[in-house]
Amino acid sequence: MATREIYQAFQQASEDKAFDVEHRKKIAYNISCYDRSFEKGLGIYANLALARQRAAVKKHSVLEHLEDHLKTFEQQFTARGGKVIWARDAADARNAILDILEKQYIRSVVKSKSMTTEEVGVTTFLEKNGIECTETDLGEFIVQISDDKPYHIVTPAMHLSAADVAKIFHEKYDMPPESAPEEIASFVRPHLRERFLRAGAGITGANFLVSGTGSIALTENEGNALFCASVPRVHIVVAGIEKVIPSPGDLDLFWPLLAVHGTGQDMSAYNTLVSGPRAAGEEEGPEEMYVILLDNGRSNLLAAIPQRRALSCIRCGACLNACPVYKNIGGHSYGTVYSGPIGAVISPHLSGQLKEYIHLSYASSLCGRCTDVCPAGIDLHHQLLQNRRLAVRNAFPPRTERWGIKAYKMTMSKASRLDKAPPGIKNLFAGLFLKKAWGPRRTLPKVVESFRKKMG
Ligand code: SF4
Repeated sequence: MATREIYQAFQQASEDKAFDVEHRKKIAYNISCYDRSFEKGLGIYANLALARQRAAVKKHSVLEHLEDHLKTFEQQFTARGGKVIWARDAADARNAILDILEKQYIRSVVKSKSMTTEEVGVTTFLEKNGIECTETDLGEFIVQISDDKPYHIVTPAMHLSAADVAKIFHEKYDMPPESAPEEIASFVRPHLRERFLRAGAGITGANFLVSGTGSIALTENEGNALFCASVPRVHIVVAGIEKVIPSPGDLDLFWPLLAVHGTGQDMSAYNTLVSGPRAAGEEEGPEEMYVILLDNGRSNLLAAIPQRRALSCIRCGACLNACPVYKNIGGHSYGTVYSGPIGAVISPHLSGQLKEYIHLSYASSLCGRCTDVCPAGIDLHHQLLQNRRLAVRNAFPPRTERWGIKAYKMTMSKASRLDKAPPGIKNLFAGLFLKKAWGPRRTLPKVVESFRKKMG
């Protein structure tokens, strides 16, 4: 889609979702459940601000020496029999995965929930190449069978109610239309078990890359990522290069931060470190393990000093749940893999998306709620301003808008200029130039005679 069409699609979807009462009800309900758990989860911290500060400092220092950490990761992981593949962009990563699968004659793959694999578009790509790819996280599985897209970084099916899910399983698998969530889970479990057993490869992301030991750290609640990493004979990991932490000891800090901010849990149910394929003498684990280190624009962010901090994100999703814009327009309206405040910050920087998605940086009230909740200490609302600055520097706004801003600045910077035109003329201009942006549901306020003029 052309830039203009992407922007118009965003505007239209936002308008539709913001006035879709059913959608708002579902999101308000699901986020209110999250808010309650989150508040409770925060209780484990005696000093939350300190934990967040430590996380921010740790990630900052990693980013300062990212190249070294990545080299150490590669050395350590390779020494244990794993293979590292460097992917410049999404196409590189997709081709590397296909290459591995084709060489091994693998036609069936299981996959766990991972935003990086969404970014790369793994599932669609493999299906187009005739390889069965099954999402094994329950939320992702629901999204996959309903030909939908993940709605949220942490809870991909957040936009669906229990009744919606029951309807999907009724239509797809002829389950009773009133099926309870437990019945659906009982149906899905053996269905996925069969897929795990027949899959030749498991694909996962990595919540963290531990450079000191060459390990990937996975955290989850269903155990499906652990299955993906251990049952099939090949394990492929797709991880962004920014996911590095130096040592397993750092997980003491990051795992609880991620769990509390992601779902309100003290700790997720399953926390796993994988440090390579099955070694001699081990009975379980894959025969081969690959880690694809994905750049896809992250180096651009790393080079842009003020925006580098966005790479500290641990993908907890807390900023989405806190954002008044996200709560109104929902995750799909953004039209990007990453939605909400962090999506608006990083999406334009992913490979080749700068002009197409810079408009997301304006979809914010700049209230700063996202910054307040971020466990990695990212100043998200300032990052949005940095993106806006970048847009102006690159002359992205249309010429009419730039002229309009210049005229506005000139008029508003001197009261005598502003007072020259009578209210009638001002209202005429406001009607001509602002009414559309003001929207059809609001009444444009009328400009009245200036106080200064009235007072003579
Ligand atoms: S930016 Fe912060 S709050 Fe948002 S997903 Fe990332 S770590 Fe979580």
